[in-house]
Amino acid sequence: MNVRRGDTVLVLAGKDRGKRGTVERVEKTKRGFGVVIPGINMAKRHQKARSRTQTAGIIDLPVPIHVSNVQVVCPRCDRPTRVGHGSSEGDHAQRTRVCKRCGEQIEVTTK
Ligand SMILES: [Zn+2]
Repeated sequence: MNVRRGDTVLVLAGKDRGKRGTVERVEKTKRGFGVVIPGINMAKRHQKARSRTQTAGIIDLPVPIHVSNVQVVCPRCDRPTRVGHGSSEGDHAQRTRVCKRCGEQIEVTTK
């Protein structure tokens, strides 16, 4: 998995192709992993009023888009890139993600 929550990604397929967004969450779907991005791949959902506070109606909800249809945008060089893996130096070496274009580490803002 190259995409994580908090990543800025470029959408490669679908009606929102070419748009950018921030990954809100990663979900396991029938076709593998999907990412939910607010404002991307919006669908109409017909919602029933299940409680007093929940009103019935047609609402817009972002539905997951497959991970293969997005590409991580490097925060350093601001270009969509493939992601490589490396490890940090030191006693507590951790696996890091690296931009294949500029070689910079891709930091993740949220866990
Ligand atoms: Zn880069």
